[in-house]
Amino acid sequence: MKRRTFLKNSTSGTAALVAAPTLIACKEASEKPIVGEESSEPIRPIAVCTWNFQNATAKAWEVLSSDGSALDAVEQGVMVEEADVTNETVGKGGRPDRDGNVTLDACIMDKDGNCGSVVYLKNIVHPVSVARKVMEETPHIILAGKGAEQFAYEQGFKKEELLTESTRKQYEEWKKTSKYETVINIENHDTIGMLTIDKNGDIAGACTTSGMAYKVAGRVGDSPIIGAGLYVDNEVGGATATGVGEEVIRTVGSFLIVELMRQGKSPQEACEEGVKRIMKKNEGRKDFQIGFLAINKKGETGGYCVHPGFTYREYTENGHENKTVQSFYQKE
Ligand code: ASP
Repeated sequence: MKRRTFLKNSTSGTAALVAAPTLIACKEASEKPIVGEESSEPIRPIAVCTWNFQNATAKAWEVLSSDGSALDAVEQGVMVEEADVTNETVGKGGRPDRDGNVTLDACIMDKDGNCGSVVYLKNIVHPVSVARKVMEETPHIILAGKGAEQFAYEQGFKKEELLTESTRKQYEEWKKTSKYETVINIENHDTIGMLTIDKNGDIAGACTTSGMAYKVAGRVGDSPIIGAGLYVDNEVGGATATGVGEEVIRTVGSFLIVELMRQGKSPQEACEEGVKRIMKKNEGRKDFQIGFLAINKKGETGGYCVHPGFTYREYTENGHENKTVQSFYQKE
């Protein structure tokens, strides 16, 4: 998958769909507005996700359009990418850390504020489903490493090799020139974050990744951290992040975006504000990328990223479309 197909904005009916990580997916007008002015009809169901993961949004749409819940849709949607070995940034086939181990991070959050997360999980293809089990079957929110893996086996998940022939070869090549140094750049990561609204108007979110390629062993990014890589408040909306997790954690990025929407900003305005706050502290840096995707209770979406030259792809019931991405441009 081409990571530069980040997303962006579009207009459909009364709702502005903005560009964020490969956003969106599918939408359908609802019969009864649930929030907002009377004139403003909420869009639901709807599924959006970061980057160009069109098969994931298609799967989420399949669930939502069969009256499935936002939570089922978001889990099943991102599972498509976790299982896709050609996607080398998520799940099986994700690139390893600098010691050659594939370690996965994921989280999920529902309409009631329930959430579950796994970090540094090895040998399991679907960390998002383990995260959901943590949420539903334990009194905890985060399980890490060996404990998370053991819990997964207890829940019936199978042990599987996550390194593929392709990622093994890339890793062998990396070792030849890297001097064992982890480098943060715009090429060695990507994540699927997905937000959905079901026909009842309830919101859910999920985020799953193999993290930064060739990271220091033990590193955990923003993606499984509730409030950083993902946040959902069913009264307001949801947000998810992609890009350099360290920067997103520092700003509690997704929580920030949701709070900005609570204060009245549109999803697009909130994502722009979030990215700008991060870039203010990183003036002049051109070596990394940050992107936020957000949705509000009305089904309006927005997205913004650091890095000029992106396009994003939108997938709706009407088909697929590439859009020009709105990006934060660094001062020269
Ligand atoms: N946010 C992910 C991480 O830092 C990577 C990405 O989305 O590009 O692990």
